[in-house]
Amino acid sequence: MIKNIICTVCPRGCSISVKGENSIVESVENYGCKRGIEYAKAEFVCPVRILTTVVKVDGKDELIPVRSNKPIPKSKILECMEEIRKTTITLPVKMHQVIIENVCDTGVSIVATKEF
Ligand code: SF4
Repeated sequence: MIKNIICTVCPRGCSISVKGENSIVESVENYGCKRGIEYAKAEFVCPVRILTTVVKVDGKDELIPVRSNKPIPKSKILECMEEIRKTTITLPVKMHQVIIENVCDTGVSIVATKEF
């Protein structure tokens, strides 16, 4: 299987071709620098994303912006979104305050990105 991966490590955005099967990488081509090789291999084996969304404020018609403090495997994003959707918080909230610790057993925390 060949997968084309856009490298997001720098603004050049190289389209890197990774050939392999499951978690075995056979070759990496079209990278602009060595950093892209590691990025593309990691994306091929286990793609991850920073999750940004909002959380409801308890008893109010307000939402506060949150994000994951580390990348989350793409395969767990929907499950994490569901847990976040069920969560409500009480004000006040400080910047970077942990809203959900170890969301869906990922080892990642969901934190506030704004003070309210
Ligand atoms: S491969 Fe290197 S040059 Fe290309 S986007 Fe990634 S970091 Fe930038």
